[in-house]
Amino acid sequence: MGMDPLRIAFVAAEAAPFAKAGGLADVASALSRHLWRAGHDVRLFLPRYAQIEFGTEPVHTVDLARDVAIDMGGTEHRFTLRTSPLPGTTYWVYFVDCPSLYDRGGIYVDAPDEHVRFAFLCRAVIECCQRMKWAPQVIHLNDWHTGLMPLYLRTLYAWDALFRGVRTVFTIHNIAYQGNFDGSAVSEVGLAGNEHLLHPADRLEGRVNFLRTAIHTADAITTVSPTHAREILSSEYGAGMDGVLREREDGVIGIVNGADYEVWNPATDPYLPHRYDVDDLEGKAANRAALLEETGLRPDPPGPVFGVISRLVSQKGFDLFTDALPDVLDGHDVRLVTLGTGEPDHEEFFRGLEWAYPGKAAFRNGYDEALAHRIEAGSDVFVMPSRYEPCGLNQIYSQRYGTVPLVRRTGGLADTVDAWDPDTGRGNGFVFEDYTPEALQDALERAVAAFRDRDAWSRLVRNGMRRDLSWRVRAGEYEALYRRLLP
Ligand code: ADP
Repeated sequence: MGMDPLRIAFVAAEAAPFAKAGGLADVASALSRHLWRAGHDVRLFLPRYAQIEFGTEPVHTVDLARDVAIDMGGTEHRFTLRTSPLPGTTYWVYFVDCPSLYDRGGIYVDAPDEHVRFAFLCRAVIECCQRMKWAPQVIHLNDWHTGLMPLYLRTLYAWDALFRGVRTVFTIHNIAYQGNFDGSAVSEVGLAGNEHLLHPADRLEGRVNFLRTAIHTADAITTVSPTHAREILSSEYGAGMDGVLREREDGVIGIVNGADYEVWNPATDPYLPHRYDVDDLEGKAANRAALLEETGLRPDPPGPVFGVISRLVSQKGFDLFTDALPDVLDGHDVRLVTLGTGEPDHEEFFRGLEWAYPGKAAFRNGYDEALAHRIEAGSDVFVMPSRYEPCGLNQIYSQRYGTVPLVRRTGGLADTVDAWDPDTGRGNGFVFEDYTPEALQDALERAVAAFRDRDAWSRLVRNGMRRDLSWRVRAGEYEALYRRLLP
């Protein structure tokens, strides 16, 4: 690296493999680790949820930040800073251990003090920097949980020269989750008297929206794909934030997420019964057979195996499935493996499908990292018909696993999947435009038809496997952004 290394604090509510609910966890670990590996002084902070298992890795207490008390608007919470390496690396991650807030049986618990839980994370990070006498140049924040950080730096901690010149970068991973609280939350997070710094819309409503506050106060706003960066400026995709976003003269920067090929690589994946790569796809066929056996699906029909791994929420397009899937399952030799948890009616639908199509449709209701890897490896087509998708990760992982993504053209799906063109032999997936069951069904049937031409299919598979969608490239884009912001 030619230039001076940077000091970067990275703050998130999730980080894989410690605490993961969705893509945020993968991004927090992989991006920060890639920046660290590039030589920067990166410190990733997350809560030490009670359910985090450290396994065989050592866990140390940071003596400088032991039993630190923070007054949150009249209620005191105490934390101790722990640190443990990301498994298999010497990259040490920091955990804010505060049992009164994080021993709750989940990452997000929708508790009456949810705002305090995550506002506390920001203040704890600041207090850790102070105690470690470590002056970050950039604080990279992620999603609403970290939205109050710029305000804290500007108010309660404005006196501290340690943070002079620090720049905040705020990344929107999912604009629909906003941390929208009653106005009384302001004093409960220790910011009473600073209401005038909130966005006028919050002041008018007598509320505090953590996401809006971040958009209003951070030094730069990014989201996880260029297409989504444009989309969220519109009312259709902005979830009420489009106005605040348009107020920013510097706009919204879109940087597509990378894949962490150290975790998602079929040549080394410890979860797979058989390993493979682009030069030897026999292992993929063996994984496919194993997946069909594991999930109780018929081994023999010639048609493709569709895979789905998802939070089962309406964002992901499951209402389209209700009309499109039964026709496709009735009319073709296809099979479908779904893994997910979420809204009861979506779970009910997939359970019903398994019942109505024995041997053709399987549903695993739960969160299962290992099975997720086996579905990536054992499926022929990965289906992701999202209504909106800031970036999406599984369509990226799928390409490395030789599993052809089938996506709706929105957000990061539009930026990472190019439609297959049998005439030129180019492209790496199936794409549809309209958010309708007919458009999804048409795409599924195109995939069924394409699957019959074995030579063309093998080309399509290899097109995806040969792409480099890694973090190496993306981490460089973030670094360039940080440097542009620095004084
Ligand atoms: P989002 O963050 O909106 O959930 P992404 O596609 O960005 O969507 O990331 C989802 C991540 O969570 C992927 O790594 C995916 O494999 C994982 N995931 C989602 N649901 C499950 C599940 N039920 N079991 C295992 N992994 C899951």
